[in-house]
Amino acid sequence: MTPEELVPAKPITWPEGKKAAASFSFDIDAESAILFASPGSEHRLGVMSHQAYGPLTGVPRLLNMLERQRVRSTFFIPGYTALRYPNVVRDIKAAGHEIAHHGFMHEALEGVSVEDEIRFMDRGLDALEKVAGVRPVGYRAPMWEPSYSTMEILLDRGFLYDSNMMDSDHPYELAVAGGRSIVELPIQWALDDWEQYCFLPDISGVGLIESPTKVIEMWNLEFEALRDDGGLFVLTNHPFLSGRPSRAKALEGFIERVVSDSSVWVTAMEDIATHVRSLNLTPRSLPAPVVDPEYRK
Ligand code: ZN
Repeated sequence: MTPEELVPAKPITWPEGKKAAASFSFDIDAESAILFASPGSEHRLGVMSHQAYGPLTGVPRLLNMLERQRVRSTFFIPGYTALRYPNVVRDIKAAGHEIAHHGFMHEALEGVSVEDEIRFMDRGLDALEKVAGVRPVGYRAPMWEPSYSTMEILLDRGFLYDSNMMDSDHPYELAVAGGRSIVELPIQWALDDWEQYCFLPDISGVGLIESPTKVIEMWNLEFEALRDDGGLFVLTNHPFLSGRPSRAKALEGFIERVVSDSSVWVTAMEDIATHVRSLNLTPRSLPAPVVDPEYRK
């Protein structure tokens, strides 16, 4: 068989006067990511307190910072976090930010059945509805690891966009079976604070705890280059990491710099997805590679 030809996403047009876009997103994993990845860690008070810092201390600081900078953000919230910290979720909503879906217990989807994936998706939807009356239009898979079933599950539930793919600098319409498509707002690991700051012995490994000065320098280099290419800059921060004082302060300085660039459209991800949808782009496919059985062990 002839494999389907893959084509790159092309640059898109941005609203009048803008040549690129940026969105500052936050994933409020709190305890859920650790409880899923490291079962039994609910008995580790120190670890749990490290994760609780996000909703308890990081989010209020970051909400104040976003208000000062007049930036509307997107918060991806696992259902478990929403049920444990309902007032935090309501505060985020009251501040005018977008609330989006991020699993229920931050479940990894690799090797998971479609039935289980649907269950995780619906539990997350129910929690956000119950706590904040929110029906999200955006989805980010835990660990940015969607399955080949995810996009159909999202479209069946009325989602507008997905933000998990790493194959492009530009947003696009991702083709989904049945002639449908979902807006894709691509991301990348280098624009995530986890790799810079996360230090959880026995759980995430003992990486370096980087200086915020170095981190912001790296993010700013990528921002300037992406902007010059007319792309979409999506930064992903976790309040239990970037909600710490010096990191939040450095992040605010960076956001201030981005906002002051009048050629860049800074807004929540749903606004960007709505714009992308209005462009009527031709959907592009990312079919699974076909692997000869001789390479399977
Ligand atoms: Zn997460």
